[in-house]
Amino acid sequence: MRIGVLALQGAFREHRAIFHELGIDAPEIRLPAQLEGLDGLVIPGGESTTIGKLATAFELIEPLRVFGKSHAIWGTCAGAIFLSKDAHREQPLLGLMRIKVNRNAFGRQVDSFETYLTVQELEDPERPFPALFIRAPLIESVGKGVQVIARLPQEDPDQEGVIVGARQGKLLATSFHPELTDDPRFHQYFLTMVEEG
Ligand code: GLN
Repeated sequence: MRIGVLALQGAFREHRAIFHELGIDAPEIRLPAQLEGLDGLVIPGGESTTIGKLATAFELIEPLRVFGKSHAIWGTCAGAIFLSKDAHREQPLLGLMRIKVNRNAFGRQVDSFETYLTVQELEDPERPFPALFIRAPLIESVGKGVQVIARLPQEDPDQEGVIVGARQGKLLATSFHPELTDDPRFHQYFLTMVEEG
């Protein structure tokens, strides 16, 4: 299996390191021709406007849209913004996922934090997943066919937490950074999405 990691800007090395630990070839992708032969693609966290501008300059926008119609793509943080249809401002987006995101939604005071999420989709779901949020977006709303897979924990169990993970078919978006923790379960989950074909 070959999982490309978009390497225009951001935390691409960390994603590659986790895939390597899992025994997966994870080449750096910067050019449209490099999408050839990949089984899936990860778009890392970083700065979504920068990633969008570089993707435009490298003529990657259309090839990525085409790739995403038949392959698995996972965007973390800035990558999730880049996958979305709507980020409330003008910036290059792939528009592949029917999600609306709110950038830097947690404000300045709490712009970075770590928490534990319970994600039913992961192996051993009873074991909470360590989720690191760094100037993270939240997923404000999801459209038709989009499954919510992770929410922030709420003190009041009757209230629904903010959406921080969503899946639309082969496309996955997480507000947080599984590549910056040493729990590989989200990477393993993405690999199962890729394998589903
Ligand atoms: N705040 C960044 C953005 O809006 C995302 C931050 C991140 O990827 N850690 O693009």
